Amino acid sequence: MQIKENISLQPFNSFGIDVYAKYFASFNSIDQLQELIASTQHKKNKHLILGGGSNILFTKNMEALVIKNEIEGVEVIEEQDDFILVQAGAGMNWHQFVVYCIHHGYAGVENLALIPGSIGASPMQNIGAYGVEIKDIFHSLEAIDMHDGNKKIFTNAECEFGYRESVFKNKYKDQFAITSVTYRLSKKPVFNTTYGAIQQEIDEMGIKDLSIKAIAQAVMNIRNSKLPDPLKIGNAGSFFKNPEIETGEFEKIKLAFPSLVGYPTKKDNIKIPAGWLIEQAGWKGFKEGDVGCYDKQALVLVNYGKATGMQILDLSERIIKSVQSTFGIMLQREVNVY
Ligand code: FAD
Ligand code: NAP
Repeated sequence: MQIKENISLQPFNSFGIDVYAKYFASFNSIDQLQELIASTQHKKNKHLILGGGSNILFTKNMEALVIKNEIEGVEVIEEQDDFILVQAGAGMNWHQFVVYCIHHGYAGVENLALIPGSIGASPMQNIGAYGVEIKDIFHSLEAIDMHDGNKKIFTNAECEFGYRESVFKNKYKDQFAITSVTYRLSKKPVFNTTYGAIQQEIDEMGIKDLSIKAIAQAVMNIRNSKLPDPLKIGNAGSFFKNPEIETGEFEKIKLAFPSLVGYPTKKDNIKIPAGWLIEQAGWKGFKEGDVGCYDKQALVLVNYGKATGMQILDLSERIIKSVQSTFGIMLQREVNVY
């Protein structure tokens, strides 16, 4: 394990932003991570744990020790008649984990196929798509405290999961390095195809016998048709969260904008697709230099080439102000800005 100096982070973030890390190292075991924690470079600098870099916007050079998690491996740690506990290393690619589960017939993650990034980042913002969030199948995680190198186990309740939120994005921000996550998967699948266009896609695929494999394939087809491939167009997925507003406020806005759509939440609020608000405010397909708002999904801000992080942040600021003045709704960023 080597700590390198002055390393470009461009290959390590899906926006493709060209900033530099003062120090950079990767680790593939807890021992190596503890060595890094004991290093002078760690003691004298801030740190950033990096997974796949698919939910990050770098706006400046990182005057920090950037450490990339490369702990691999996946194993079954408990098996019962109807469920199974599978533990995966935090550096494992999320989609590879989904493929592993589908191959073995473990259900629960099929709706989350093709989400970029690592296992270790999946609890960070309680990743979700097509009606499933990881909190539904999360069992526990193991993390190392970056202050003292000690190990801590977090249960589902201790992670304080919310909509694209967890304790690691809030009170424990940058404090813990997640080293492995254990998921509780089902051996008796309950198919979830009611969300969005999944059922329609399954029908178009001509599937007669529904399976977790078919659902994952349908999700992958839909995602490939709507979302930009970060290898071709830099992006970090949804830049903003979908806002939740009170029912009264929703009704008021709907009077002025009858095509407004909303989905009731468990807290009796209404969740509004941020992409719809941004599109109505006129930003969908916007392009200025190398910065843009994706033409097939307005929630995704893109780097068409050499955009800087500050330019993308500026565009996000303009969009927030514009949506605020059109609808009176304040959008919150989902992407982690550094
Ligand atoms: P990174 O970007 O590397 O890190 C994100 C944050 O987590 C940073 O603050 C980082 O410090 C921290 N972090 C990373 N790993 C660790 C660790 N091991 N321990 C402690 N902290 C850590 N998200 C969804 O929820 N649903 C989607 O459907 C979805 N679709 C996407 C589609 C596209 C095309 C793209 C580009 C992104 C999408 N995302 C989606 C966002 C992103 O894929 C997820 O947030 C993913 O979990 C990020 O993983 P990562 O490893 O790339 O994290
Ligand atoms: P979509 O299906 O066009 O729907 C737009 C928005 O409306 C979604 O964000 C979704 O909220 C909400 N929605 C749609 N149907 C719903 C239902 N039946 N019940 C509750 N809410 C509903 O969205 P999309 O952009 O193509 O994305 C599809 C899924 O992938 C969504 O779950 C989205 O969150 C996820 N995704 C996430 C990212 C990311 O970076 N976070 C990127 C791409 C896609 P929810 O987001 O709360 O589900």
